[in-house]
Amino acid sequence: MKSIFYLVILFTFASCTSNSQPKTTKPMSTSNKVTKTEEEWKKVLSPEQYQVIRQKGTETPYTGKYYLHKEKGTYVCAACGAELFKSDTKFDAGCGWPSFSDAIDSSRVTYTTDKTHGMIRTEITCTKCGGHLGHVFEDGPKPTGLRYCVNSLSIEFKK
Ligand code: FE
Repeated sequence: MKSIFYLVILFTFASCTSNSQPKTTKPMSTSNKVTKTEEEWKKVLSPEQYQVIRQKGTETPYTGKYYLHKEKGTYVCAACGAELFKSDTKFDAGCGWPSFSDAIDSSRVTYTTDKTHGMIRTEITCTKCGGHLGHVFEDGPKPTGLRYCVNSLSIEFKK
């Protein structure tokens, strides 16, 4: 009887310590964070930007200002200015949104499992301000094999 008791304790302990964190979630850096209240975000973002960036909306495909944009430069977060993507990783995925095969630094993007709308996707947000960027898919070109599918409203182009 005593050994069964110990077995139960051991099993409970083992299940509590197992790591259930999804592989796609990365810890966010705590330095240089931009934190604003929703009221403050409403003052600095357009209503369209606010809907996508703060409320995780999606702009209508083929309508964003950067979908077919081809200039050389850097794409920064439209909400906080963090440098996120370089033009040399931008490609036309045919999906209707600006697509990048890589981020400037993967730590500048936070990856979170998104189970909304009956799909399992990986949401990407700006690590610095928490703003919604879009989703990342594993059907991009080599060598990364990734497609960062980003709303034009979430980014700003800098030459
Ligand atoms: Fe940001």
